[in-house]
Amino acid sequence: MKKLLLLLCAGVITTGYAQQETFKGKFEQLGQMLPTPNEYRTGSGAPGPNYWQQRADYDIDVTLDDKNQRITGKETITYFNNSPDALTYLWLQLDQNVREQNTNTLKTSTNNMEDSLSAKSAASRFGMTDYDGGFKIQSLTDAAGKKLPYTVNKTMMRVDLEEPLKSGENFSFNVEWYYNINDRMELGGRSGYEYFPEDDNYVYTIAQFFPRMCVYDDYEGWQNKQFLGSGEFTLSFGNYKVNITAPSDHIIASTGTLQNAKDVLTKTEIERFESAKKSFDKPVIIVTQAEAEAKEKTKSTKTSTWSFHAENVRDFAFASSRKFIWDAQAVKVGNKTPLAMSFYPKEGNPLWEQESTKAVKATLETYSKYTIDYPYPVAISVHAASIGMEYPMICFNFGRPNPDGTVSDRTKYGMIGVIIHEVGHNFFPMIINSDERQWTWMDEGLNTFVQYRTEVEQYDNFPSRRGPAANIVDYMKGDKEFIRPIMTNSEQIIQFGANAYAKPATALNILRETIMGPELFDAAFKEYATRWAFKNPKPADFFRTMEDASAVDLDWFWNGWFYTVDNVNVSVDEVKWFKMRTEDVQIENKGKKVKKGDLSASADNSEMMDFSNGPQPFSLVDTEASAYREFQNRVDDKAIMQKFENKNFYEIKFVNKGGLVMPIIVEFTFADGTKTIEKIPAEIWRKNEKEVTKVFYFDKEVTNVVLDPNFETADTDVSDNVFPRKKEVSKFDEFKGKSGK
Ligand SMILES: [Zn+2]
Repeated sequence: MKKLLLLLCAGVITTGYAQQETFKGKFEQLGQMLPTPNEYRTGSGAPGPNYWQQRADYDIDVTLDDKNQRITGKETITYFNNSPDALTYLWLQLDQNVREQNTNTLKTSTNNMEDSLSAKSAASRFGMTDYDGGFKIQSLTDAAGKKLPYTVNKTMMRVDLEEPLKSGENFSFNVEWYYNINDRMELGGRSGYEYFPEDDNYVYTIAQFFPRMCVYDDYEGWQNKQFLGSGEFTLSFGNYKVNITAPSDHIIASTGTLQNAKDVLTKTEIERFESAKKSFDKPVIIVTQAEAEAKEKTKSTKTSTWSFHAENVRDFAFASSRKFIWDAQAVKVGNKTPLAMSFYPKEGNPLWEQESTKAVKATLETYSKYTIDYPYPVAISVHAASIGMEYPMICFNFGRPNPDGTVSDRTKYGMIGVIIHEVGHNFFPMIINSDERQWTWMDEGLNTFVQYRTEVEQYDNFPSRRGPAANIVDYMKGDKEFIRPIMTNSEQIIQFGANAYAKPATALNILRETIMGPELFDAAFKEYATRWAFKNPKPADFFRTMEDASAVDLDWFWNGWFYTVDNVNVSVDEVKWFKMRTEDVQIENKGKKVKKGDLSASADNSEMMDFSNGPQPFSLVDTEASAYREFQNRVDDKAIMQKFENKNFYEIKFVNKGGLVMPIIVEFTFADGTKTIEKIPAEIWRKNEKEVTKVFYFDKEVTNVVLDPNFETADTDVSDNVFPRKKEVSKFDEFKGKSGK
């Protein structure tokens, strides 16, 4: 009994404490939540005076085995330690190991039984496949060929150094490996092969195909968080020399610039390629569909080696097939003329020859405007069923017409959208190189935002999925148990697309259109891109730069949209209409207290609000002499009163039900049918985050008040945004109305 009483008391105390916590401080500065600025990353959001980053150069030779679907490779990595620290070991990422049998990805995936399951999905769900995936490391040696000790921990590999690698030094070592390429259509994956049974050929899209250096930085040390499948790749910049050996009738699309065209292309192909470099208005076909179809049948048994060089990239990928049709054109970006190129099997046509390279060009133009001029020599879109995945200069995109060549709008716009998105990833994160393993929104969210700008600016009436505020409402008002803040590690995110793509993209769109305005937003966004191009930004660097370059305090916005799962739900709770008394106010109302009036028939019932009772009078009285100090000028009471005469005053109470503070946008409709919109910054909420009251005045009489009339703020319940309230149509009436028509 005593124990119980004690427990009860404890309960009361806890509750009491919780109830005291009323002020949430949505406008408090993020100060304590962001990392302390230092010599590497400044308080302004720019790289600091001693900012450093590591560099990793790769010389790679790989062979694509088209008979056994296998990649065999050897590489020399030269790692430059630009950090102030001595390193006793190096970490590499072995992403292919996510496909090992018994991987942690499979072990930690949750699943359940179902009444009926397709054999294919059951096999992949329970890992019952014969596929033997993962890197098979054959050797690891230093520059002299001496074996180096290494330890593989799932998707990570530690290489122990005999001597610490000191600051400013570099270290070269060699790795040999092979792995079996995954059937992408059966096992999924960002890379792999697709088999075409009709002509017995493959399209290979090859990525994460070599052991890659982990990032070591000032913020995290080694970023060696295990790859489980969601958190993508965090990589250092470097220069690549890659030789790819494949069947000699294959066409290879790759990161970088082809070094030996004369060894691997026909004379005609080279001529067409050269003319593509001068074609700015439309693509030139370098390998035609007829030529590709002819190769599908003959199947060369010889091999050729394609040599590619790429400078200052954070990764390398390629695609290879004898099925590839290839087109290219030049794009004018600042003082550069990169090539926009597409590679696709006949199964992609006619859609791909019409839309792919065009979309690549559109992307380079719009993204360059919002960020930096596209710095690489090529940008490539490769047709790959079912996926969209990005690498430097090259990406793999879905969008396949029906077998008869017809295309639904859904396929067409889906394909254009994914090409813009994946080519756009060249900017985020391939150039503005954020930590994808930690923060998905930093590349996906920012990229989806500029994707939306590209769709709006380069296409007529593009059916954009992500960007417009109204499109995020369903997600925002969903059950909060299934929503995570944007600032959540990639592997813990649920509702991945909405969380890391749509919500941050929408937030940025709202920031641009409604909060900052395009001029301030665009300049700040471009500043962020310019500061962090070819560097490794963190969230705080973005948050700080957007404020630093615009003089708009956005801490409340980052706090609400990025750190919480609150939503926007503001209501127009009360509207009161006032007019000044027209009788001789100076005498009659002198000294009288001004009374507030309520327009509603029954003042205590806010459901019944309308304007039918007419305005409530209020009085304006002479300013008392005591209000003035000695020698202070007297105001002209009469002149003020004249200004007030015949004006309509509307006192509106706004209630914040959703939690997110946002600008208040109110549309007033007047008796003569005209409208006006008042925009009030979010700071109106800074002293009371729950409800605010504000008076508006007009010459004309207001008949209608609408909050957020153009659906700019993602308000999750617009039924309480209007005054007078619309009579709610009951579900039954709605049904009756529908069935009657
Ligand atoms: Zn993406």
